[in-house]
Amino acid sequence: MAILDVQYQQPLGAGGACATRHAWARVPRDPAPAERVALKQRIRELLEERNAVMVSHCYVHPDLQDLAEETGGLVSDSLEMARFGRDHAAQTLVVSGVRFMGETAKILSPEKTVLMPALEATCSLDLGCPAREFAAFCDQHPDRTVVVYANTSAAVKARADWVVTSGCALDIVRALHADGQKILWAPDRHLGHYIQHETGADLLMWHGACIVHDEFKAFELQALMREHPHARVLVHPESPAEVVALAHAVGSTSAILQAARAMQARDFIVATDSGMLHRLRTLLPDKRFIEAPTAGNGATCKSCAHCPWMAMNGLAGVAQVLESGCNAVVVDPRLVARARQPIDRMLAFTAALKTGAATAGLVPHLGAA
Ligand code: SF4
Repeated sequence: MAILDVQYQQPLGAGGACATRHAWARVPRDPAPAERVALKQRIRELLEERNAVMVSHCYVHPDLQDLAEETGGLVSDSLEMARFGRDHAAQTLVVSGVRFMGETAKILSPEKTVLMPALEATCSLDLGCPAREFAAFCDQHPDRTVVVYANTSAAVKARADWVVTSGCALDIVRALHADGQKILWAPDRHLGHYIQHETGADLLMWHGACIVHDEFKAFELQALMREHPHARVLVHPESPAEVVALAHAVGSTSAILQAARAMQARDFIVATDSGMLHRLRTLLPDKRFIEAPTAGNGATCKSCAHCPWMAMNGLAGVAQVLESGCNAVVVDPRLVARARQPIDRMLAFTAALKTGAATAGLVPHLGAA
């Protein structure tokens, strides 16, 4: 077990000034081969016994991704995780990811038990957007529709008109903009700038950042592109604008997978958490995936392209929560109904998009929350 000190930026209001803060992550050791086999077998049995299903994010350890797939669970991004957890018949969801993912699952399925192997796994975007400060920011701008990224606490979601993920943010903001709505956006500034650039929407921004994607460097990426001139570059939009500008495709982890599948190229440079590389290599074994660089000349990386909080999830933790029922996610009941509204709005909008149904009627003027 390693205890990591993790630095993140805490925005001081909406002006762009930030303070450096510290958090921690407790990362379990990798089990030895025999222990790994035994843990996987035990988890399989417990999933059956407890009527449970695994829902794993594609940034967590490969073991948790593989086991979720092998046992009928899901490996995906936060949008699909939310949908899958809500619709699956299992009464217990084992969510491997970070805290806001477990909270979203619980908000959508309050009658289900939601267990997390790492209940304390957080996210720099969530940490960097405290509910009280965010509410004050919203109060100063009552004329704006409040759109928050899924990487936020239940209390911040409860203050929002819309929740979005990187998989649907562009479509939803584009629809709000077409309807003439001005937007208050939180918390990721890079994703916000990307959306603003793509849609032309009027976005007033909170200045949070993901500690993993914020570290990708354009200068180093250009050098790597020169080494691999035929490689296509796939970038998550939580990355800085100069990195996004070099991309051949920009999008959520699901969109990155789709782009890699659709493009003719054999080599890809990928700017997102390195956990995603396992998924890409597993699903597209004939293609080659190279990690994008995170540090400039002489610099040392902080996250080194792997989220320390995602790394808190491990096989032993999954076995333990299934065995004991501990680490159940609890969301303040006073927040559940209010936080659910903007999530439901997102799910209804994306479901309509999928079926080709009209979405214009799904973006009402909501006013201040
Ligand atoms: S990878 Fe970034 S956005 Fe995702 S949980 Fe970690 S800190 Fe948060």
